Amino acid sequence: MLTNDLLSQWDRESFLHPSTAAGAHARGETPARIIEGGQGVRIRDRDGRESLDGFAGLYCVNVGYGRPEIAEAIAEQARKLAYYHAYAGHGSEAAIELAHMVLDRAPDHMSKVYFGLSGSDANETNVKLIWYAMNATGRPAKKKIISRWRGYHGSGLMTGSLTGLELFHNAFDLPLNPILHTEAPYFYRRPDPAMSEEAFSTYCAEKLDALIRAEGADTVAAFIGEPILGTGGIVPPPAGYWEKIQAVLAEHDVLLIADEVVTGFGRLGSMFGSDHYGMKPDLITIAKGLTSAYAPLSGSILSQRLFEMVAKGTDDMGPLGHGWTYSAHPLCAAAGVANLKLIDELKIVENARDTGAVFQRLLHEAFDGHPIVGEVRGEGLMAAVEFVKDPGTRTFFDASEKVGARVAAAALERGLIARAMPQGDILGMAPPLCLTPAEAEEMVGIARAAADDVAKALG
Ligand code: PLP
Repeated sequence: MLTNDLLSQWDRESFLHPSTAAGAHARGETPARIIEGGQGVRIRDRDGRESLDGFAGLYCVNVGYGRPEIAEAIAEQARKLAYYHAYAGHGSEAAIELAHMVLDRAPDHMSKVYFGLSGSDANETNVKLIWYAMNATGRPAKKKIISRWRGYHGSGLMTGSLTGLELFHNAFDLPLNPILHTEAPYFYRRPDPAMSEEAFSTYCAEKLDALIRAEGADTVAAFIGEPILGTGGIVPPPAGYWEKIQAVLAEHDVLLIADEVVTGFGRLGSMFGSDHYGMKPDLITIAKGLTSAYAPLSGSILSQRLFEMVAKGTDDMGPLGHGWTYSAHPLCAAAGVANLKLIDELKIVENARDTGAVFQRLLHEAFDGHPIVGEVRGEGLMAAVEFVKDPGTRTFFDASEKVGARVAAAALERGLIARAMPQGDILGMAPPLCLTPAEAEEMVGIARAAADDVAKALG
Protein backbone atom coordinates (compact mmCIF):
# COMPACT_ATOMS: atom_id res chain seq x y z
CA MET A 1 0.00 0.00 0.00
CA LEU A 2 1.18 3.53 -0.74
CA THR A 3 2.24 5.55 2.29
CA ASN A 4 0.26 8.67 3.20
CA ASP A 5 3.31 10.87 2.62
CA LEU A 6 3.88 9.57 -0.89
CA LEU A 7 0.18 9.86 -1.78
CA SER A 8 0.15 13.42 -0.52
CA GLN A 9 3.20 14.26 -2.58
CA TRP A 10 1.69 12.75 -5.74
CA ASP A 11 -1.58 14.58 -5.02
CA ARG A 12 0.14 17.98 -4.88
CA GLU A 13 2.29 17.15 -7.93
CA SER A 14 -0.27 15.55 -10.23
CA PHE A 15 -3.91 16.15 -9.41
CA LEU A 16 -5.82 19.27 -10.55
CA HIS A 17 -8.83 19.18 -8.23
CA PRO A 18 -12.25 20.66 -9.03
CA SER A 19 -13.33 23.77 -7.10
CA THR A 20 -9.92 24.09 -5.45
CA ALA A 21 -7.34 26.89 -5.24
CA ALA A 22 -5.06 25.19 -7.75
CA GLY A 23 -1.79 27.04 -7.06
CA ALA A 24 -2.09 26.95 -3.27
CA HIS A 25 -2.94 23.23 -3.36
CA ALA A 26 0.03 22.42 -5.58
CA ARG A 27 2.33 24.38 -3.24
CA GLY A 28 0.96 22.56 -0.21
CA GLU A 29 -0.46 25.72 1.38
CA THR A 30 -4.03 24.50 1.82
CA PRO A 31 -5.35 21.48 3.68
CA ALA A 32 -5.94 18.27 1.77
CA ARG A 33 -7.69 15.14 2.88
CA ILE A 34 -7.59 11.64 1.47
CA ILE A 35 -10.82 9.81 2.18
CA GLU A 36 -10.59 6.09 2.64
CA GLY A 37 -13.91 4.71 3.77
CA GLY A 38 -17.39 5.42 4.98
CA GLN A 39 -20.28 3.82 6.81
CA GLY A 40 -23.75 5.26 7.24
CA VAL A 41 -23.37 9.00 7.79
CA ARG A 42 -19.66 8.90 8.66
CA ILE A 43 -16.51 8.98 6.55
CA ARG A 44 -12.94 8.13 7.52
CA ASP A 45 -9.68 9.50 6.13
CA ARG A 46 -6.25 7.91 5.71
CA ASP A 47 -5.06 9.47 8.97
CA GLY A 48 -7.81 7.55 10.79
CA ARG A 49 -9.87 10.68 11.44
CA GLU A 50 -13.62 10.15 11.31
CA SER A 51 -16.19 12.85 10.43
CA LEU A 52 -19.94 13.04 10.46
CA ASP A 53 -20.76 13.85 6.86
CA GLY A 54 -23.35 16.58 7.17
CA PHE A 55 -23.33 17.16 3.42
CA ALA A 56 -23.61 13.56 2.11
CA GLY A 57 -20.54 14.14 -0.09
CA LEU A 58 -22.01 16.81 -2.37
CA TYR A 59 -25.59 16.17 -1.25
CA CYS A 60 -25.58 12.92 -3.14
CA VAL A 61 -24.95 9.88 -0.92
CA ASN A 62 -28.63 9.65 -0.07
CA VAL A 63 -28.74 6.07 1.24
CA GLY A 64 -25.51 6.56 3.19
CA TYR A 65 -22.05 5.05 2.81
CA GLY A 66 -21.11 1.38 2.73
CA ARG A 67 -24.22 -0.26 1.28
CA PRO A 68 -23.19 -3.75 0.13
CA GLU A 69 -26.42 -4.19 -1.89
CA ILE A 70 -25.34 -1.51 -4.37
CA ALA A 71 -21.70 -2.62 -4.46
CA GLU A 72 -22.82 -6.18 -5.25
CA ALA A 73 -25.23 -5.06 -7.97
CA ILE A 74 -22.39 -3.17 -9.69
CA ALA A 75 -20.03 -6.15 -9.39
CA GLU A 76 -22.61 -8.59 -10.73
CA GLN A 77 -23.35 -6.32 -13.70
CA ALA A 78 -19.62 -5.94 -14.39
CA ARG A 79 -19.21 -9.71 -14.52
CA LYS A 80 -22.23 -10.15 -16.81
CA LEU A 81 -21.90 -7.13 -19.12
CA ALA A 82 -19.64 -4.24 -18.18
CA TYR A 83 -20.61 -2.13 -21.16
CA TYR A 84 -22.75 -1.85 -24.17
CA HIS A 85 -23.99 1.38 -25.72
CA ALA A 86 -27.57 2.62 -25.94
CA TYR A 87 -27.44 4.07 -29.47
CA ALA A 88 -29.88 3.04 -32.20
CA GLY A 89 -32.30 1.31 -29.86
CA HIS A 90 -29.79 -0.80 -27.92
CA GLY A 91 -30.12 -1.25 -24.19
CA SER A 92 -29.41 -3.40 -21.19
CA GLU A 93 -31.79 -4.96 -18.71
CA ALA A 94 -30.54 -2.61 -15.98
CA ALA A 95 -31.02 0.57 -18.03
CA ILE A 96 -34.52 -0.38 -19.16
CA GLU A 97 -35.58 -1.44 -15.66
CA LEU A 98 -34.20 1.80 -14.24
CA ALA A 99 -36.04 3.98 -16.79
CA HIS A 100 -39.24 2.18 -15.84
CA MET A 101 -38.57 2.62 -12.11
CA VAL A 102 -37.80 6.32 -12.50
CA LEU A 103 -41.03 6.98 -14.40
CA ASP A 104 -42.96 4.98 -11.83
CA ARG A 105 -41.79 7.46 -9.20
CA ALA A 106 -41.91 10.67 -11.29
CA PRO A 107 -44.99 12.90 -11.65
CA ASP A 108 -47.68 11.26 -13.82
CA HIS A 109 -47.30 13.47 -16.88
CA MET A 110 -43.64 12.48 -17.39
CA SER A 111 -43.01 10.12 -20.27
CA LYS A 112 -39.38 9.15 -21.08
CA VAL A 113 -35.90 9.22 -19.52
CA TYR A 114 -32.63 10.04 -21.31
CA PHE A 115 -29.59 8.96 -19.26
CA GLY A 116 -26.32 10.89 -18.94
CA LEU A 117 -23.55 10.86 -16.37
CA SER A 118 -23.64 14.12 -14.44
CA GLY A 119 -26.11 16.84 -13.50
CA SER A 120 -24.19 19.18 -15.79
CA ASP A 121 -24.47 16.98 -18.86
CA ALA A 122 -28.16 16.32 -18.12
CA ASN A 123 -28.86 20.05 -18.17
CA GLU A 124 -26.78 20.36 -21.32
CA THR A 125 -29.07 17.69 -22.82
CA ASN A 126 -32.10 19.63 -21.62
CA VAL A 127 -31.02 22.80 -23.42
CA LYS A 128 -30.42 20.83 -26.61
CA LEU A 129 -33.75 18.99 -26.39
CA ILE A 130 -35.58 22.26 -25.96
CA TRP A 131 -33.83 23.91 -28.89
CA TYR A 132 -34.50 20.81 -30.97
CA ALA A 133 -38.18 20.81 -29.96
CA MET A 134 -38.50 24.49 -30.88
CA ASN A 135 -36.97 23.85 -34.31
CA ALA A 136 -39.09 20.74 -34.79
CA THR A 137 -42.26 22.72 -34.12
CA GLY A 138 -41.42 25.63 -36.41
CA ARG A 139 -40.30 28.15 -33.76
CA PRO A 140 -36.60 28.64 -34.51
CA ALA A 141 -36.46 32.07 -32.82
CA LYS A 142 -37.76 30.74 -29.47
CA LYS A 143 -34.45 29.70 -27.88
CA LYS A 144 -33.62 31.84 -24.83
CA ILE A 145 -33.50 30.12 -21.47
CA ILE A 146 -34.13 32.02 -18.25
CA SER A 147 -32.45 30.92 -15.03
CA ARG A 148 -32.30 32.62 -11.61
CA TRP A 149 -29.43 34.45 -9.97
CA ARG A 150 -28.06 31.99 -7.38
CA GLY A 151 -29.43 29.01 -9.30
CA TYR A 152 -26.96 26.13 -9.73
CA HIS A 153 -27.23 23.96 -12.81
CA GLY A 154 -23.70 22.73 -13.44
CA SER A 155 -20.35 24.02 -14.60
CA GLY A 156 -20.16 23.24 -18.31
CA LEU A 157 -20.36 26.00 -20.91
CA MET A 158 -24.13 26.19 -21.23
CA THR A 159 -24.83 24.85 -17.75
CA GLY A 160 -22.23 27.12 -16.15
CA SER A 161 -24.09 29.92 -17.92
CA LEU A 162 -27.39 28.75 -16.44
CA THR A 163 -25.74 28.76 -13.03
CA GLY A 164 -26.26 32.18 -11.48
CA LEU A 165 -23.20 32.40 -9.24
CA GLU A 166 -20.29 34.75 -9.89
CA LEU A 167 -17.63 32.18 -9.01
CA PHE A 168 -18.77 30.00 -11.91
CA HIS A 169 -18.78 32.87 -14.43
CA ASN A 170 -15.74 34.95 -13.49
CA ALA A 171 -12.80 34.60 -15.88
CA PHE A 172 -14.60 31.88 -17.86
CA ASP A 173 -16.31 34.40 -20.16
CA LEU A 174 -19.73 33.17 -19.01
CA PRO A 175 -22.68 33.44 -19.18
CA LEU A 176 -23.07 32.70 -22.89
CA ASN A 177 -25.95 33.75 -25.06
CA PRO A 178 -28.86 33.03 -25.01
CA ILE A 179 -29.02 32.55 -21.23
CA LEU A 180 -30.71 35.21 -19.10
CA HIS A 181 -31.09 35.51 -15.32
CA THR A 182 -33.93 36.74 -13.17
CA GLU A 183 -34.54 37.44 -9.46
CA ALA A 184 -33.55 34.77 -6.92
CA PRO A 185 -36.48 33.71 -4.70
CA TYR A 186 -34.44 34.59 -1.62
CA PHE A 187 -36.92 35.88 0.92
CA TYR A 188 -34.33 36.75 3.58
CA ARG A 189 -32.61 39.05 1.06
CA ARG A 190 -35.84 40.60 -0.27
CA PRO A 191 -35.47 44.23 -1.33
CA ASP A 192 -37.98 45.55 1.19
CA PRO A 193 -38.09 43.96 4.68
CA ALA A 194 -41.78 44.90 4.94
CA MET A 195 -42.71 42.51 2.10
CA SER A 196 -44.65 39.36 3.03
CA GLU A 197 -43.64 36.03 1.47
CA GLU A 198 -46.63 36.17 -0.89
CA ALA A 199 -45.80 39.76 -1.88
CA PHE A 200 -42.18 38.78 -2.55
CA SER A 201 -43.34 35.84 -4.70
CA THR A 202 -45.53 38.25 -6.69
CA TYR A 203 -42.52 40.56 -7.05
CA CYS A 204 -40.39 37.66 -8.42
CA ALA A 205 -43.16 36.63 -10.84
CA GLU A 206 -43.55 40.22 -12.03
CA LYS A 207 -39.80 40.47 -12.62
CA LEU A 208 -39.95 37.30 -14.71
CA ASP A 209 -42.96 38.53 -16.63
CA ALA A 210 -41.25 41.85 -17.37
CA LEU A 211 -38.10 40.07 -18.59
CA ILE A 212 -40.07 37.80 -20.93
CA ARG A 213 -42.02 40.77 -22.30
CA ALA A 214 -38.84 42.82 -22.79
CA GLU A 215 -37.13 39.97 -24.65
CA GLY A 216 -40.30 38.99 -26.54
CA ALA A 217 -42.14 35.81 -25.57
CA ASP A 218 -41.54 34.39 -29.04
CA THR A 219 -37.78 34.35 -28.24
CA VAL A 220 -37.99 32.67 -24.80
CA ALA A 221 -38.15 28.87 -24.79
CA ALA A 222 -37.76 27.79 -21.18
CA PHE A 223 -37.26 28.66 -17.53
CA ILE A 224 -35.05 26.52 -15.29
CA GLY A 225 -35.12 26.37 -11.51
CA GLU A 226 -34.36 24.10 -8.59
CA PRO A 227 -37.48 23.48 -6.49
CA ILE A 228 -35.41 24.84 -3.59
CA LEU A 229 -32.27 26.85 -4.33
CA GLY A 230 -29.30 24.63 -3.45
CA THR A 231 -25.72 25.77 -3.92
CA GLY A 232 -26.93 29.38 -4.12
CA GLY A 233 -27.72 29.25 -0.38
CA ILE A 234 -30.22 26.43 0.39
CA VAL A 235 -33.28 28.64 0.17
CA PRO A 236 -36.82 27.20 0.12
CA PRO A 237 -39.20 29.15 -2.13
CA PRO A 238 -41.39 31.78 -0.52
CA ALA A 239 -45.10 30.99 -0.19
CA GLY A 240 -46.91 30.95 -3.54
CA TYR A 241 -43.70 31.22 -5.57
CA TRP A 242 -44.05 28.25 -7.92
CA GLU A 243 -47.74 28.86 -8.49
CA LYS A 244 -47.12 32.46 -9.53
CA ILE A 245 -44.06 31.61 -11.65
CA GLN A 246 -45.92 28.84 -13.49
CA ALA A 247 -48.81 31.19 -14.26
CA VAL A 248 -46.35 33.55 -15.99
CA LEU A 249 -44.74 30.68 -17.92
CA ALA A 250 -48.14 29.38 -19.06
CA GLU A 251 -49.16 32.84 -20.25
CA HIS A 252 -46.08 33.12 -22.45
CA ASP A 253 -45.89 29.46 -23.54
CA VAL A 254 -42.49 29.03 -21.88
CA LEU A 255 -41.44 25.50 -20.84
CA LEU A 256 -40.37 24.66 -17.29
CA ILE A 257 -37.27 22.65 -16.36
CA ALA A 258 -37.23 21.50 -12.74
CA ASP A 259 -33.62 20.84 -11.81
CA GLU A 260 -34.02 18.08 -9.26
CA VAL A 261 -30.40 16.96 -9.18
CA VAL A 262 -30.44 17.57 -5.42
CA THR A 263 -34.13 17.26 -4.57
CA GLY A 264 -34.91 14.13 -6.61
CA PHE A 265 -35.32 10.85 -4.70
CA GLY A 266 -36.14 12.05 -1.25
CA ARG A 267 -34.10 15.01 -0.07
CA LEU A 268 -37.14 17.13 0.86
CA GLY A 269 -39.07 14.24 2.38
CA SER A 270 -40.92 13.61 -0.88
CA MET A 271 -39.83 11.60 -3.92
CA PHE A 272 -39.56 14.73 -6.08
CA GLY A 273 -39.48 18.42 -5.25
CA SER A 274 -41.93 18.99 -8.12
CA ASP A 275 -44.57 17.06 -6.17
CA HIS A 276 -43.57 18.87 -3.01
CA TYR A 277 -44.19 22.33 -4.46
CA GLY A 278 -46.91 21.64 -7.06
CA MET A 279 -44.63 22.12 -10.07
CA LYS A 280 -45.63 20.66 -13.45
CA PRO A 281 -42.36 20.67 -15.39
CA ASP A 282 -41.69 19.71 -19.00
CA LEU A 283 -38.28 18.36 -18.02
CA ILE A 284 -36.89 17.12 -14.73
CA THR A 285 -33.13 16.86 -14.25
CA ILE A 286 -31.98 14.00 -12.02
CA ALA A 287 -28.55 12.80 -10.90
CA LYS A 288 -27.03 12.48 -7.41
CA GLY A 289 -29.80 10.57 -5.56
CA LEU A 290 -30.51 8.39 -8.61
CA THR A 291 -27.58 6.16 -7.63
CA SER A 292 -26.79 7.79 -4.27
CA ALA A 293 -23.48 8.53 -6.05
CA TYR A 294 -22.36 4.88 -6.00
CA ALA A 295 -21.81 5.39 -9.75
CA PRO A 296 -22.07 8.48 -11.97
CA LEU A 297 -25.50 8.63 -13.59
CA SER A 298 -27.93 11.41 -14.46
CA GLY A 299 -31.13 11.73 -16.39
CA SER A 300 -33.46 14.07 -18.20
CA ILE A 301 -37.08 13.10 -17.69
CA LEU A 302 -39.28 14.39 -20.53
CA SER A 303 -42.97 15.17 -20.23
CA GLN A 304 -45.33 13.64 -22.77
CA ARG A 305 -45.78 17.13 -24.29
CA LEU A 306 -42.03 17.60 -24.83
CA PHE A 307 -41.55 14.02 -26.00
CA GLU A 308 -44.17 14.55 -28.72
CA MET A 309 -42.27 17.60 -29.99
CA VAL A 310 -38.99 15.64 -30.05
CA ALA A 311 -40.68 12.67 -31.73
CA LYS A 312 -42.08 14.97 -34.42
CA GLY A 313 -38.53 16.18 -35.02
CA THR A 314 -37.10 12.70 -35.44
CA ASP A 315 -40.05 11.66 -37.66
CA ASP A 316 -39.26 14.63 -39.93
CA MET A 317 -35.45 14.78 -39.65
CA GLY A 318 -34.19 11.31 -38.69
CA PRO A 319 -32.47 10.02 -35.53
CA LEU A 320 -31.59 12.42 -32.74
CA GLY A 321 -28.01 13.63 -33.20
CA HIS A 322 -27.29 13.55 -29.49
CA GLY A 323 -25.69 10.95 -27.25
CA TRP A 324 -22.70 10.05 -25.10
CA THR A 325 -20.68 6.83 -25.27
CA TYR A 326 -21.62 6.20 -21.66
CA SER A 327 -25.35 7.15 -21.84
CA ALA A 328 -27.24 4.55 -19.77
CA HIS A 329 -24.01 2.78 -18.82
CA PRO A 330 -25.00 -0.67 -17.51
CA LEU A 331 -22.84 -0.50 -14.36
CA CYS A 332 -24.36 2.86 -13.36
CA ALA A 333 -27.87 1.69 -14.24
CA ALA A 334 -27.39 -1.42 -12.07
CA ALA A 335 -26.33 0.88 -9.22
CA GLY A 336 -29.46 2.96 -9.85
CA VAL A 337 -31.80 -0.04 -9.74
CA ALA A 338 -30.25 -1.33 -6.49
CA ASN A 339 -30.33 2.18 -5.00
CA LEU A 340 -34.00 2.80 -5.78
CA LYS A 341 -34.91 -0.60 -4.34
CA LEU A 342 -32.99 0.26 -1.18
CA ILE A 343 -34.71 3.64 -0.94
CA ASP A 344 -38.04 1.79 -0.90
CA GLU A 345 -36.96 -0.99 1.46
CA LEU A 346 -35.40 1.34 4.01
CA LYS A 347 -38.21 3.90 3.69
CA ILE A 348 -35.58 6.54 3.03
CA VAL A 349 -38.03 9.17 1.76
CA GLU A 350 -40.23 8.80 4.83
CA ASN A 351 -37.14 9.04 7.01
CA ALA A 352 -36.07 12.25 5.27
CA ARG A 353 -39.50 13.65 6.08
CA ASP A 354 -39.63 12.50 9.72
CA THR A 355 -36.00 12.88 10.77
CA GLY A 356 -35.94 15.99 8.59
CA ALA A 357 -38.64 17.53 10.78
CA VAL A 358 -36.57 16.70 13.89
CA PHE A 359 -33.44 18.14 12.24
CA GLN A 360 -35.18 21.40 11.32
CA ARG A 361 -36.62 21.75 14.84
CA LEU A 362 -33.22 21.13 16.46
CA LEU A 363 -31.60 23.72 14.17
CA HIS A 364 -34.17 26.33 15.14
CA GLU A 365 -33.72 25.52 18.82
CA ALA A 366 -29.94 25.81 18.50
CA PHE A 367 -29.70 28.90 16.30
CA ASP A 368 -32.80 31.10 16.58
CA GLY A 369 -31.75 34.22 18.47
CA HIS A 370 -28.02 33.41 18.21
CA PRO A 371 -26.07 36.70 18.11
CA ILE A 372 -24.58 36.13 14.63
CA VAL A 373 -27.45 34.20 13.02
CA GLY A 374 -29.82 35.97 10.67
CA GLU A 375 -31.88 33.03 9.46
CA VAL A 376 -32.32 29.28 9.89
CA ARG A 377 -34.13 27.70 6.95
CA GLY A 378 -34.65 24.43 5.14
CA GLU A 379 -36.92 21.61 4.18
CA GLY A 380 -36.60 17.88 4.84
CA LEU A 381 -32.92 17.02 5.18
CA MET A 382 -31.63 20.18 3.55
CA ALA A 383 -30.91 23.19 5.73
CA ALA A 384 -28.89 26.37 6.07
CA VAL A 385 -27.86 28.75 8.78
CA GLU A 386 -27.08 32.26 7.52
CA PHE A 387 -24.64 34.34 9.56
CA VAL A 388 -24.91 38.12 9.74
CA LYS A 389 -23.13 40.85 11.63
CA ASP A 390 -26.34 42.27 13.04
CA PRO A 391 -29.51 40.17 12.83
CA GLY A 392 -31.62 43.12 13.99
CA THR A 393 -30.72 45.30 11.02
CA ARG A 394 -29.91 42.42 8.62
CA THR A 395 -26.35 43.74 8.22
CA PHE A 396 -24.13 41.23 6.44
CA PHE A 397 -20.50 40.52 7.29
CA ASP A 398 -17.84 41.79 4.96
CA ALA A 399 -16.91 38.91 2.60
CA SER A 400 -13.25 39.31 3.62
CA GLU A 401 -14.11 38.09 7.14
CA LYS A 402 -15.01 34.69 5.65
CA VAL A 403 -17.38 33.95 8.53
CA GLY A 404 -19.17 31.07 6.77
CA ALA A 405 -15.88 29.39 5.90
CA ARG A 406 -14.62 29.87 9.46
CA VAL A 407 -17.71 28.21 10.94
CA ALA A 408 -17.34 25.30 8.50
CA ALA A 409 -13.66 24.96 9.49
CA ALA A 410 -14.54 25.05 13.20
CA ALA A 411 -17.21 22.37 12.62
CA LEU A 412 -14.69 20.18 10.82
CA GLU A 413 -12.28 20.58 13.72
CA ARG A 414 -15.05 19.24 15.95
CA GLY A 415 -15.83 16.32 13.62
CA LEU A 416 -18.64 17.58 11.37
CA ILE A 417 -18.51 18.26 7.65
CA ALA A 418 -20.89 21.12 6.81
CA ARG A 419 -20.48 23.24 3.69
CA ALA A 420 -19.71 26.94 3.49
CA MET A 421 -21.94 27.84 0.55
CA PRO A 422 -20.13 29.89 -2.13
CA GLN A 423 -22.02 33.21 -2.02
CA GLY A 424 -22.67 34.63 1.46
CA ASP A 425 -21.89 33.45 4.99
CA ILE A 426 -24.07 30.38 4.86
CA LEU A 427 -23.48 27.02 6.49
CA GLY A 428 -25.23 24.33 4.47
CA MET A 429 -26.24 20.92 5.70
CA ALA A 430 -27.71 18.07 3.67
CA PRO A 431 -26.80 14.79 5.38
CA PRO A 432 -27.47 11.28 4.09
CA LEU A 433 -31.19 10.52 4.19
CA CYS A 434 -30.63 7.54 6.50
CA LEU A 435 -29.81 9.98 9.31
CA THR A 436 -31.19 9.04 12.75
CA PRO A 437 -32.59 11.57 15.24
CA ALA A 438 -29.57 10.92 17.51
CA GLU A 439 -27.17 11.71 14.64
CA ALA A 440 -29.21 14.82 13.83
CA GLU A 441 -28.75 15.95 17.43
CA GLU A 442 -25.02 15.27 17.27
CA MET A 443 -24.68 17.29 14.04
CA VAL A 444 -26.65 20.25 15.29
CA GLY A 445 -24.73 20.26 18.60
CA ILE A 446 -21.40 20.44 16.77
CA ALA A 447 -22.65 23.12 14.35
CA ARG A 448 -23.81 25.23 17.28
CA ALA A 449 -20.48 24.84 19.11
CA ALA A 450 -18.64 25.82 15.92
CA ALA A 451 -20.75 28.96 15.50
CA ASP A 452 -20.08 29.83 19.15
CA ASP A 453 -16.33 29.45 18.56
CA VAL A 454 -16.46 31.90 15.66
CA ALA A 455 -18.81 34.35 17.42
CA LYS A 456 -16.39 34.42 20.34
CA ALA A 457 -13.40 35.02 18.07
CA LEU A 458 -15.28 37.89 16.37
CA GLY A 459 -15.77 39.46 19.79
N1 PLP B 1 -28.00 20.88 -10.81
C1 PLP B 1 -27.99 21.03 -9.49
C2 PLP B 1 -29.25 21.52 -8.83
C3 PLP B 1 -26.86 20.73 -8.73
O1 PLP B 1 -26.86 20.95 -7.41
C4 PLP B 1 -25.73 20.24 -9.40
C5 PLP B 1 -24.51 19.90 -8.63
O2 PLP B 1 -24.40 20.15 -7.46
C6 PLP B 1 -25.76 20.12 -10.78
C7 PLP B 1 -26.91 20.43 -11.47
C8 PLP B 1 -24.56 19.66 -11.54
O3 PLP B 1 -24.33 18.32 -11.30
P1 PLP B 1 -22.87 17.70 -11.56
O4 PLP B 1 -21.96 18.28 -10.55
O5 PLP B 1 -23.12 16.22 -11.41
O6 PLP B 1 -22.50 18.06 -12.95
